[in-house]
Amino acid sequence: MTDCVFCKIISGEIPAEKLFENDHAIAVLDINPIHFGHALILPKQHCSDFLDLPDDTFHSILQAAKVVTQALVQSLQLEGYNLFSNNGTIAGQSVFHFHLHVTPRYRDDNIHFILKLKKYPEREITQYGSMIRKFIKPSVS
Ligand code: AMP
Repeated sequence: MTDCVFCKIISGEIPAEKLFENDHAIAVLDINPIHFGHALILPKQHCSDFLDLPDDTFHSILQAAKVVTQALVQSLQLEGYNLFSNNGTIAGQSVFHFHLHVTPRYRDDNIHFILKLKKYPEREITQYGSMIRKFIKPSVS
């Protein structure tokens, strides 16, 4: 995509600090990191979000994520890290080329993803389960 910042990184049109590359994915450092070393795993093929990812990219993306996470843990001597992906504007996605964030975590770094957990009223967990199962399509690509 001509107007996509991550496509421009992949094509070499704009610079990035590349960490790793395999068949279908590359990993770069995020320019505005949560912590230094915060990395992004990008599919080489443009796709807007998780559901848009072609099946043949899944393995490359997870392999790149594991290789880079391993390197972050060893180089920064991490006790913990987060892997996450924002999908959709309301979920916080700002670049519409799928990416997985891998970010270092530190003790007392004051980052909280969960503010308040809900509890299902009686039997509602079962109703949610049956509603969602009706839409499970194992063959979806
Ligand atoms: P999200 O808000 O989940 O879509 O994440 C997009 C991420 O891309 C943000 O953390 C940005 O800091 C990062 N980002 C945007 N432009 C660049 C760039 N040119 N190089 C590296 N990271 C970038």
